[in-house]
Amino acid sequence: MSQDPASRIQDMLAFGEFGGVNPSIEDTSTFTFLSVDKMEELFEREVEGCFLYSRHMNPTNHYLGSAIALMEDKEYAQVTASGMAAITSTIMQICKAGDEIVSSRTVYGGTYAFFKNFLPKFGIKTHFVNIVDIEAIKSKITDKTKAIYCESVSNPLLEIADLKEIRKICDEHNLQLIVDNTFSPMVVSPAKYGADVVIHSLTKYINGSSDCVAGVICASRDFVLSLRDVHSGAAMLLGPVLDSIRAASILKNIRTLHIRMKQHSKNAMYIAEKLEALGLNVFYPGLKSHPQYNLANEMFNLEYGYSGILAFDAGTEEKANEVMMKMQEELVGYFAVSLGFYKTLFSSPGHSTSSEIPEDEQKEMGMSPGLVRLSIGLDNDIERSFERIKKCLSETELI
Ligand SMILES: *Cc1c(COP(=O)(O)O)cnc(C)c1O
Repeated sequence: MSQDPASRIQDMLAFGEFGGVNPSIEDTSTFTFLSVDKMEELFEREVEGCFLYSRHMNPTNHYLGSAIALMEDKEYAQVTASGMAAITSTIMQICKAGDEIVSSRTVYGGTYAFFKNFLPKFGIKTHFVNIVDIEAIKSKITDKTKAIYCESVSNPLLEIADLKEIRKICDEHNLQLIVDNTFSPMVVSPAKYGADVVIHSLTKYINGSSDCVAGVICASRDFVLSLRDVHSGAAMLLGPVLDSIRAASILKNIRTLHIRMKQHSKNAMYIAEKLEALGLNVFYPGLKSHPQYNLANEMFNLEYGYSGILAFDAGTEEKANEVMMKMQEELVGYFAVSLGFYKTLFSSPGHSTSSEIPEDEQKEMGMSPGLVRLSIGLDNDIERSFERIKKCLSETELI
């Protein structure tokens, strides 16, 4: 099988009921059985090709999960109703009261809030660390630690988790390595470095249309089956099921992901270099000034570039707000959270997606209140887009 994530998806065969080149959409909540025995059996164990109830599994969701599992080179996948559902189900499945997690401190705001505010209610403690500091990770491992959690490329500072090194710690202490790869599908293949669980918010690049919220958990067959176990699975019992009609539409969008990622990356590289040349402090793993530029070159599938997210520091919250409003007026894109859309999206993480992280902790992470994060779009004329950004920067006296 090809080692390329896009080619792996393209090798997938899924025909429609009448030989359609798209698989049929299974628009149903429940499934008929021709024998009593078969139904009883399905309550006991998963039977390949047999379906029971759509909260458990639906053929359309199965197709989508299979495509993403192929992309991530993991055995199986469970699609979920959101990225947060993927994260919370995974953690609830792996951890029990008394367990501990070591997590990167620069994670998605919702993830941070879940670890910090929600899990303690169930007696699960999270130690937040600077994920680029391998010694710091080691120092937080105890005999209660169950998992190390990180984002391959972090939000919003674009720090890169050295998955090879983190895997070594996991091996030493028998821990699960859980990686959120939302920022870098195809660009990073966490399974190659031994990630046990690879999570995505499909809401972002993978769907790419900003028209729905969805998620996925890619892992071993055993883990995914445990997630949807009728008697004890978090995905089955907490019930974050994705609707099959939506799963079908995401499956169609995934087919262009490789082309989109290349274009997002190409455009982001262009903008990052241009902004840096104007004298701004720019965060982008494709820049030589990025502290982990060498690691990015080792770890990334460079055919897909360095992904499409970058950030720059506007100094203060006021300047950040001013320049973003101007960029919206100048049609650079939309002032909106989220990422992976065909248009450029921008927001100031300190006051939106990362606002769950207390201000003093943001400061310690190196997150300036004037940070502006851009998810660069698929613009065909990126030079024009840059000229517009430049005009806005000049009008706000940032250059
Ligand atoms: C958006 C996002 C999530 C949460 O996903 P939802 O689909 O919004 O629930 C998790 N991790 C990262 C890195 C994200 O960007």
